[in-house]
Amino acid sequence: MTAPAHRGKILVADDDKALLKTLVYILKGEGHDVVAIDGGEHLMERLEAERPDLLLLDIMMPKVDGLQLLEQIKNDPRWESMPVLMISSMPPEDATARSLGLGADDFIAKPFRVRELVARIDARLRGGRTLQQARDEAERQAEEARVRGDEARVRAEMVDILHEITDSLKPDEIYHILARRVARVLRLSKCSMVLAHAGDETGLVVAAFENPALRNLEIKLARYPEIQRALSTGRPVLVKDVLTDRMYDEVREEWRAAGVQVTTRSVIALPFSLHKQQRGVFFLRTTAEDAPLEEEDVAFAGTVIAAAVSAIDKAYDLESAVSDRERFQELAQTDALTGCSNRRALSERLEAEVDRVKRYDRTLALLLVDIDTFKDVNDTRGHLAGDGVLRQLGDILRREARSVDIVARYGGDEFVVVVPDTDTEGAVIFAERLRVRIAEYDFAEAGDPLYVTVSIGVASMPADGAESADAFIGQADRAMYAAKDEGRDQVRE
Ligand code: GH3
Ligand code: MG
Repeated sequence: MTAPAHRGKILVADDDKALLKTLVYILKGEGHDVVAIDGGEHLMERLEAERPDLLLLDIMMPKVDGLQLLEQIKNDPRWESMPVLMISSMPPEDATARSLGLGADDFIAKPFRVRELVARIDARLRGGRTLQQARDEAERQAEEARVRGDEARVRAEMVDILHEITDSLKPDEIYHILARRVARVLRLSKCSMVLAHAGDETGLVVAAFENPALRNLEIKLARYPEIQRALSTGRPVLVKDVLTDRMYDEVREEWRAAGVQVTTRSVIALPFSLHKQQRGVFFLRTTAEDAPLEEEDVAFAGTVIAAAVSAIDKAYDLESAVSDRERFQELAQTDALTGCSNRRALSERLEAEVDRVKRYDRTLALLLVDIDTFKDVNDTRGHLAGDGVLRQLGDILRREARSVDIVARYGGDEFVVVVPDTDTEGAVIFAERLRVRIAEYDFAEAGDPLYVTVSIGVASMPADGAESADAFIGQADRAMYAAKDEGRDQVRE
């Protein structure tokens, strides 16, 4: 295996020696630098010595409690931006809730799929790194400001802005946070963010401090000479007094003609560019009651905005890392061969449905579908043809089901269809229709026609009296076996 370039240093703490070896092997193969610790003892010392980019931590180890370690790490400012992924064989809901509550960045249940683990690590490493880069950038900007003497103010502001931005990653919200922040820090009554390119006739105001409800207001740039100039020169424009500045000669004429009462005194238009394509200006204004804006306000606003904009850029990268993770969560719910829900997803969703039936006095039916003598298909036509049957059967079931139904692969050649708000009679009619469709369908992807039949067991709630999801599936399973006993290719309730 040729390893790609170094991608990150990962510390793995687990008491399972075999797993530890495997993890080291896999992660090294992925190009990471890996340090393994057997058990969690002296973890804090090892963190200090190794300074990893990411920590993979087992929850249950004989000598130390992984969750306690997690809490200790997350309360230590030195490790604030280091992602921690917890691994455990505890019941996922319980452990996930507890670890995420304590600040873990992700949770991986044993046994895990290698690709999922690798992908999650990558997503977190990218996330951790971009956040770290954003912080470094803020530090660098603060350093520059320190040289100019307004260090403390900028630093405090930047830390706050970063926190707020990385907590809330929707563009709309970010625009508003920025407008509000910049207005506050400069003590301005008006601050808006306008998206536009040089030469555009109109601009889009995406956020305004003075009007938090504002979204996407189009403005004619001809009436804003300072915005146009900032866009065309790429440099900040300061107008100390709009009532005397030459740039406003024409606009003032229009104001006079239209009888507009102008309350604005000073204006700064500060150009910025966001994720390399969105461009625009921050448009800062003071009224006659505010102190007029000066050159040092331009420099200060420029520093704050540059740092904030670069933090947003990083936040976007982080957002895509987060959505990667969501995509993997979806993958983790799906059976790879058939695209149906997998057993884990089924049990989660079925439990919710069973709860709903009990609480709201509804009905719920469940079909257990098992292919008849499927081993013969594998034996006579080969395993690939067998896979083809399973895949097409999944398609048929999903096509025939309603969107509220759950179609899951329960195991080898067994599928479960959960049909809400349906009683036994309705479910048997549905099952019978499925049985006939399947028996008539040619599953051959090559060669001679290939026909299979299915046996279907039906159970319903509350009629059959099941109290839990497992008991409910058990009832359908018994009905399915009855169908097999009576000669297959039939529906039994
Ligand atoms: P019965 O009518 O009693 O259900 O007979 P059967 O041959 O279908 O027996 P059973 O349901 O117990 O066996 C299911 C078979 O499905 C066993 C296994 O070889 C096959 N199988 C399970 N998973 C897969 C898979 O992913 N692909 C393929 N091709 N075959 C599978
Ligand atoms: Mg079977």
